[in-house]
Amino acid sequence: MHQDLEQLKQRISLLEYLQRRNWTARRSGSRQEFVGFCPFHAETRPSFYVNARKNLFYCHGCERGGDLIRFVELSEHLSFRESLAYLKQHMAAAPESELLDKTAAFYQLQLHRYPEAVEYVQQRGVRDPALIEELGVGYARGGNLRRHLVDLGYSLDLLLRTGLINPQGRDAFCRRVIIPCRRQGRAVNLYGRSIGVAFPHRLLPRSKGGLFAWESVGAFSTVILVEGLFDLAVLWQAGFRNTTCAIGTHLTPAQLSQLGDQPGRCIYIAFDQDPNQAGQHASRLLAQRLENAGVNARIVALPPGHDPNSYFMAGATAADFLACLQRAQGL
Ligand SMILES: [Zn+2]
Repeated sequence: MHQDLEQLKQRISLLEYLQRRNWTARRSGSRQEFVGFCPFHAETRPSFYVNARKNLFYCHGCERGGDLIRFVELSEHLSFRESLAYLKQHMAAAPESELLDKTAAFYQLQLHRYPEAVEYVQQRGVRDPALIEELGVGYARGGNLRRHLVDLGYSLDLLLRTGLINPQGRDAFCRRVIIPCRRQGRAVNLYGRSIGVAFPHRLLPRSKGGLFAWESVGAFSTVILVEGLFDLAVLWQAGFRNTTCAIGTHLTPAQLSQLGDQPGRCIYIAFDQDPNQAGQHASRLLAQRLENAGVNARIVALPPGHDPNSYFMAGATAADFLACLQRAQGL
């Protein structure tokens, strides 16, 4: 049981647990301490403190305090044993999405340890450190994820099932730059861009989870849709925060309906200008589908052979791209 307890504490922090239960808090002085209203009684001034490093809480109002298990005992009126079982069940409810969060966080920490990864990100024109942080860009060097996750208490079976680890026990994303796809702050899939010769694009075998960053982009009445996350990154960096991405040119029905979820919205499709016309063909097909669904669509023509990423890499400015948007035409 002791081992169970240690595993639980590593996999879920007190703060995380409270946040999931919609406890709102602000930092109190030190980076590790948070304060908010006490969940155990009504109060007008916040007196419930959480120390994130020590994983402990203390309320100056009711003088109750302790760790995560103690919190569950008090809030759910359970015994120690029952609380442990309760937490295990709670964890089982969302193990995969939590696993993806932990993986994304791990990869994010790795990025700056490997010059080849940092170089690749720079090479793709993504230079703003705040943006790299915001997108959660990480790196899978390969060979160290499995041990990290097993140490956190995840079963090898779960790692295989999510596709993070291949049957040989190695990272499925080996030598890839990683960008997590999130919904409501939680990773729902991971995108991996190979920095070597391997097949360039990889996603986990699960839903892409809607359009990228739709929670913020969906607020715009004009939206730019691109194929790849590195296209999106350079456009965000250039100030076009109304850019979203479907990761590929094929949109799921859910993604299509997202584009149409605000009346009068105009979608600028900025796919790759491939020499074999594949991108142009996909653009026209999508514009037609959007128009059929009552959504205004325009097709952005970049110079031949370019996608938004390579266009900026070749020296284009925000003004150049804006001019392309202004020249964009409907069907
Ligand atoms: Zn209290």
